[in-house]
Amino acid sequence: MAPLKIGAFPPPLPSKKEELKQLVVSWEASTEALLILFVAFVLGLAGEAVQCYEFVDCYDKGTCNNASRWRTAGLSCSFTNAVSVEADMMYGGGNGTFTSLTRSICAPGERLHINSRSGQSECAPYRAWPNALNTEIMKPGAATKHEQMCGAWIDAGRLLSQETYYWSFYDQSKANLAVSNVERGIYSSTRLSSTDMGKFYTSCSQTVLGGTGAIRASAKKAYQHLVAGAPTASNVEQVLKNVGWLASHACDGPVLSGMTEANGVFKASMGRGSAFQKGALARSLYTVEESIALQTLAESANDDVNRVALSSPSATIGELEDVFEGATGRTDHETILLQYSMTPELDGLIWLAKQARFDEANAYLRGVAATCAFALHGSLGITSTGDYVESTLRAPAAALGRLKAPPPGDMLVTVDNETLLNASAVTWSQLRPQPTGNPATDCVETARFLFPDRIDAEHFDLMITPHLYERLHEVTETLRAAVAHVVQNTAAVAAVFMSPSAVASKVMSTTVRIAGAPRGTWAGIPYDFPDGEPTSDDGPMLMAVKAAKAMYTSRVDLLFRAANVCDGPPVYTAMEANAYIYPGGDCTHVLLGVLRKPFADERYDNASLASRAGYVIAHELAHNSLVTEWNTAARDSLLSRYTANLHNEAIADLISALAIIHSGLATATEVCDHVSQVWCARVPMGYVANPLSSHPGPNERGDLLCGTLSDMGFM
Ligand SMILES: [Zn+2]
Repeated sequence: MAPLKIGAFPPPLPSKKEELKQLVVSWEASTEALLILFVAFVLGLAGEAVQCYEFVDCYDKGTCNNASRWRTAGLSCSFTNAVSVEADMMYGGGNGTFTSLTRSICAPGERLHINSRSGQSECAPYRAWPNALNTEIMKPGAATKHEQMCGAWIDAGRLLSQETYYWSFYDQSKANLAVSNVERGIYSSTRLSSTDMGKFYTSCSQTVLGGTGAIRASAKKAYQHLVAGAPTASNVEQVLKNVGWLASHACDGPVLSGMTEANGVFKASMGRGSAFQKGALARSLYTVEESIALQTLAESANDDVNRVALSSPSATIGELEDVFEGATGRTDHETILLQYSMTPELDGLIWLAKQARFDEANAYLRGVAATCAFALHGSLGITSTGDYVESTLRAPAAALGRLKAPPPGDMLVTVDNETLLNASAVTWSQLRPQPTGNPATDCVETARFLFPDRIDAEHFDLMITPHLYERLHEVTETLRAAVAHVVQNTAAVAAVFMSPSAVASKVMSTTVRIAGAPRGTWAGIPYDFPDGEPTSDDGPMLMAVKAAKAMYTSRVDLLFRAANVCDGPPVYTAMEANAYIYPGGDCTHVLLGVLRKPFADERYDNASLASRAGYVIAHELAHNSLVTEWNTAARDSLLSRYTANLHNEAIADLISALAIIHSGLATATEVCDHVSQVWCARVPMGYVANPLSSHPGPNERGDLLCGTLSDMGFM
């Protein structure tokens, strides 16, 4: 057969003419389009290949820098040339200003920088100081205030993205990584193991390197410790005390024991615990070398507990007191108020014990202890017990005693009792590092779970300089007085409140806490860190349950002292970008994510610091507006620009702004400009604010506030 040659096809037969015409038509209509696309694709790939070849070549020679911005793995191969000063003078003279040259290929408001973790160059937000207003991202003459303050940055945004990006927060996860990367360096070396975190890290990494056998031996030590505190029961009371003892070690069990608050004072609280999956208790008991007989008893007890959980009588207050006594080791609790909700699994266990089936009840609790001792297994890269509890509906946890915060759009929240109980009763099953299997990272993650107070303090030290801390104190006290003044003396605001003086007095008595602030200082917790009293031969699992018990005990102390909620730790991890208040509870917490640039910096001028971090703090203080009834007519007139769902936030925003203006730290225009820029965002196309949200949507915060200040004659 002759080889095919291009252009050598035989001519078509006349009878095939119509067929050919059709063929030609379809060739023209679709094939050509496809071909064009294909050729474009090939050329594109080739172009990319050439670009990447050039980049790798010049990068190796040191004549260019990587300039791929925000692109995964830097796939675009963008680069900027590195040339000598003389060459730049000869060929590049007059090519641009310092600003445009350092901005390079980045969007307005961004600059090239070197990522401290990856060592790669990338675009990162350019945060201006001492005046924090970034003029480069502004769009003068635009229709709305947020566009005037941020329009250039918004216009440079990703149009197709489905997410909202705030100017203040879009870089947050990278900023947090930079902090946690340095923080881990402080304790993740056995030769630097001076703190409890360092000591835990050392023990943990030694154990993981020892392998599964070492991890299991460590869990067994923890199990023995838990069992020693929960003696074999032969009456219902002792069963319940043992339940409490285990709950006080953050063990997953039939009941949660934590705290809620009323009027700003901590109350004891109990809620529904966990249901164990079939086989989970037996498997845990097997790994701590308990007998088959005990495993069988535990499983049969668990079957019955789960079966009757919802049908057995609810635990009485007396029975819950037994649990509390077991958890706290204290009987002098007659002044302690206990709040509780339904506890089906505990009810099931009480039912079992009341049948005098103590062997089974004891076996069940041994299983709970074994599971608890193994709870950290997931952190240490072995999979012996897996997911041992039924999936819980509890809020995601970040550490013992800490929840993951809501997204920044929902910040400046009030914390309810459900959140407080969830935070104070985090159990081991809620804490899983991802991924597992690497001792270096697993042990860091686990240390973060166990020592949230110390980690908060490390983060504070890395993010807040002593000078900034001092300035924040001044700003806080100045604005506190100004908020109290405004709620009583700015006529349109005072008219909203039935009792302006009640609001003012709460503003004056509210403690401001900054997460992780040095203990005993103006914004810090007034007592020392919880102390689990670990020893060098405990091993990581025992250290973990001891740390959990220490945290529990430190909370119980607050309870018995009837301490204000501000004496307790924050419910979220310190680095989150959030702030919250217990209205009427004399306490507000400010987290570190709203105390770094673009919110705060020791070099910020007064107007910037007051209108940004100060604005957040004054906003929280102004939420004390919730302690009195409101006059609806005055409210609707003052807040006419806001929809009803936003009124609580609106009045806090407005009072905060008026307080800053009254204090003389910034003018109305400055406050309006700063607030509009801090809360501006890129939103997806067609974005509509949620009409049920309690918080102003992206970009609305500044627009509505500036409009209202203008209505009031301030601008
Ligand atoms: Zn708020």
